[in-house]
Formats: sequence, C-alpha cells, structure tokens
Amino acid sequence: MGKLVIISGPSGSGKTTVCKLLEKDPHVKKSISVTTRLPRYNEKTGEAYHFVSTREFEEMIRSGELAEYAEYCGYFYGTPVKALKEALMKEGFFLLEIEVQGALQIMEKFPETISIFLLPPDKKTLGRRLAQRKTNKGQDLELRLKVADKELEYKDRYNHCVVNDDLAVTVSTIRKILNLA
Ligand code: ADP
Ligand code: 5GP
Repeated sequence: MGKLVIISGPSGSGKTTVCKLLEKDPHVKKSISVTTRLPRYNEKTGEAYHFVSTREFEEMIRSGELAEYAEYCGYFYGTPVKALKEALMKEGFFLLEIEVQGALQIMEKFPETISIFLLPPDKKTLGRRLAQRKTNKGQDLELRLKVADKELEYKDRYNHCVVNDDLAVTVSTIRKILNLA
C-alpha cells in the first residue's frame, strides 16, 4: 500500500524546493495538481500543474475527479483523485503539496496520511524568500504574506512541523519521518 504525505506551509516556506529534493528518491512521487492560476515563466502544464480554465475546473468538481480542492488567493487548486488512488495501490510515498483547507479534507478522507507543516525560520525570512523567487509581485506577494498568518494557525493539526532553515537538514528530517533515512 502506498502512503500519502501532505506537505503544507505558507507560500515561500520552501514546499516546492523540498518536494523536488524528496522526489529524487525512487520511493517518492509527487501528485500533479490542477489549478486555474496562470503558469509562471518556469512552469509547464503537466509538470508543475495541469493548468485549466475555471470552467474546466468546475466540470472536474462536478464529475468527482478531485479528491479535494480549495480556493487560494483568488484561484482554484485541486488534487486529481485518479492518480491518488493509483498511488495508494502501489508501494511508496505520494506527496501532496497542498494548502491547509485541502489538507484537512485529505486528513479526514484518508486518516493514515502523514501530514507535515513546513515553517519558515521567521516572517522576515519568509518575505525575503518569496520576493527572491521573483514570481509573485506587488499585490500578490502581499496577499500571500497575509494568508500566511492564517495558515500558521493550522500548524497544530499536522503530525509534524519542520522549520525550513537549512535545506539539507529539512530534507533529511523529512526523510527520517518517512523512515527513508
Ligand atoms: P513554496 O513552494 O513553499 O512557495 P519555494 O520552494 O518556491 O516555496 O521556495 C521559495 C524560495 O525560497 C525559493 O527561491 C527557494 O529557492 C528558496 N528556499 C527554499 N528553501 C530554502 C532554504 N532552506 N534556505 C534558503 N532558501 C530557500
Ligand atoms: P502556488 O500558486 O504557489 O503554486 O500554490 C499556492 C498554494 O496552493 C500553495 O499553498 C500550494 O501548496 C497550494 N496547492 C497546490 N496544489 C494544490 C491542490 O491540489 N490542492 C490544494 N488544496 N492546494 C494546492
């Protein structure tokens, strides 16, 4: 049986970076979400996300194709149920890099899920990392920082909280949680 692993945390906490490093292990695979937000300059559809229109997303909700979904900063994000079910039939870990509302839905539907909340070392570092990523500007950056405060209130609902200070330490801590180290 495969195991689901949720990685949540405020925007800029390092989720994508950490998941990419975890995925180097052949036992770890990441779910590809569906979203209505526009691709960033370095994102391709089918890799970072499946990018769809709002109408397509709503159709996926209606036809039960999503295991969970949520709205975040004005866009929809959801986890395709088909790939998730397939992952559960195989050995290994299936990473869900999702925000807190979706995470709560998965925890309820799949109580065996391992949930990890990634924390930035402090708020100043979070702001700096988000700005340095150069993909979120002005209003969007401010909105994401504002939402971060709300997201942090949910950290105690997770099995583990990991502070992402040194990247290598973060990855090895999570690998230990998964018994991969
Ligand atoms: P998220 O997916 O949570 O929004 P990212 O993985 O995009 O966050 O990381 C945000 C920025 O912070 C990126 O520029 C990334 O390279 C950087 N970053 C991530 N983890 C660390 C770390 N431990 N130390 C320094 N910079 C980091
Ligand atoms: P971003 O726009 O930075 O890629 O993602 C914004 C937020 O949406 C992040 O917290 C990310 O983890 C979350 N997210 C990505 N995919 C999904 C998903 O399928 N479902 C939910 N609920 N959140 C997601």
